[in-house]
Amino acid sequence: MGLSVIQRPNCVTLRCVDPLRIQVHSKDNVAIVVNPEGLAAGVAFSDGLKLVESIPQSHKVALKRFAPGDLIIRYGEVIGTANREIPVGGWIREDMLNLPVAPPLDQLALATAVPQPLAPLAGQTFEGYRNADGTVGTKNILGITTTVQCVAPTVDYAVRRIKAELLPRFPNVDDVVAITHTYGCGVAIDAPGAGIPVRTLGHISRHANFGGSPLVVSLGCEKLQPMRLLPGENLRPFNNSTFPIFNEDPYVVRLQDADLRGFGDMISAIMRFAEKRLEELNRRQRTTCPASELNVGLQCGGSDAFSGVTCNPAVGYAADLLVRSGASVMFSEVTEVRDAVHLLTPRCATQDIARDLIREMRWYDEYLGRGGADRSANPTPGNKRGGLSNVVEKALGSVAKAGTSAISMVASHGDKVTAKGLTFAATPASDFICGTQQLASMNMHVFTTGEGTPYGLALVPVVKVSSRTALAERWHDLIDVDAGRIATGQATIESVGWELYRFILDVASGRKKTWADHWGLHNALAPFNPGPVT
Ligand code: CA
Repeated sequence: MGLSVIQRPNCVTLRCVDPLRIQVHSKDNVAIVVNPEGLAAGVAFSDGLKLVESIPQSHKVALKRFAPGDLIIRYGEVIGTANREIPVGGWIREDMLNLPVAPPLDQLALATAVPQPLAPLAGQTFEGYRNADGTVGTKNILGITTTVQCVAPTVDYAVRRIKAELLPRFPNVDDVVAITHTYGCGVAIDAPGAGIPVRTLGHISRHANFGGSPLVVSLGCEKLQPMRLLPGENLRPFNNSTFPIFNEDPYVVRLQDADLRGFGDMISAIMRFAEKRLEELNRRQRTTCPASELNVGLQCGGSDAFSGVTCNPAVGYAADLLVRSGASVMFSEVTEVRDAVHLLTPRCATQDIARDLIREMRWYDEYLGRGGADRSANPTPGNKRGGLSNVVEKALGSVAKAGTSAISMVASHGDKVTAKGLTFAATPASDFICGTQQLASMNMHVFTTGEGTPYGLALVPVVKVSSRTALAERWHDLIDVDAGRIATGQATIESVGWELYRFILDVASGRKKTWADHWGLHNALAPFNPGPVT
């Protein structure tokens, strides 16, 4: 991506006093305003372009005169057609563009421009927790899985007691986390789509940061029975006469079991299992692991028009570094990929992988259609305030996170990514639903934001990258990496990419902490359930 910054020579501070704009691609006929306070009508750039009206930061300025029907081009791609006259130097607002049709799914090029493998980056390591099943954790957590929402307050109560009474005796354990959610009963569990939340929760229950072996709390009468959540596991029910026992098998506490008399018995059963699991987890040690054991989930939320020129390209550069290190890097968010899918299917390593990607796009088109919606439902009021006119502009900026390497796998909703390299895991774009679904695979999370969100997850570290310096300054104790310096010329995509890559290795090793973990900002899990509720 050729980034063209028009500025005067003395504009080097964070507070630009001279007008500054960014044009991403030489074919673009719009640019975005960089100055934090926006620019006033009459302001002239060094090349003579003069604003005919005031334009806020991150919003688009017309570089030519548009007539109705003219193509509006950003990132070298059509983001819409003008639906009125727009003068050169005018502000292009979202209501001035008509949304183009989405790329037809039956006319896409399949694996026609597969990138050559990037040069390996040898010897990159982090300090992680290696599990018996071969996975590697970045945190050491006691996770308590639930099969149904009915038991969530009981487990939350038990977790408060465990943290207060047991955890202080086990200093190597980072946290105790209840895997609570709104799924599990009152659902058509055999309907198409029900497998998505079930698989998602099953993978999360066996997360690498839990040591791979779950402790399950069930009610007893729910649709999502423990064996359905964790097929193939040898679940051991609580039994007063055989307890204590301990081995690698996961445990299940069923609150309706006759052995448990009253709430006190339930809590004590959970706590006895928890104590055994804490003893096991406390013996875990960080060891040096190759960076190839990382699976980094990429996501954006509260994006703005800077996202596609600062934080997302910097994340894309870091993604390439991770791929070169042998790691898995996963991008997601179907509705933010849909309008850029014609740029991605040629990059798939094989035609079958390209067809998998198209299958996921088609599934989501149909899912939205059943709900009486389409992809135009995506941009939020915040996205629009941040200068993003429509989902096409948002998608073109979003896919910059995916870097430049070949796509090596496409996973369906709820499935676990098993390949190294750049992968796509189908998820909704909703931040907390996407994050929940990515937890099936990832042990690190990178989250880019323009408008800002204090989002975080308990299970994995969430590294937050801002698109603008103004946000990083205002949220100095929430944003981990400021990519806004790219817009003002104080940093480059490459330098922020390297900074982010090293920060990921430091956080994965426990040497540094994200702000979200510092404050304990952990969003609730929200499994995606496209199936019917009964
Ligand atoms: Ca998102």
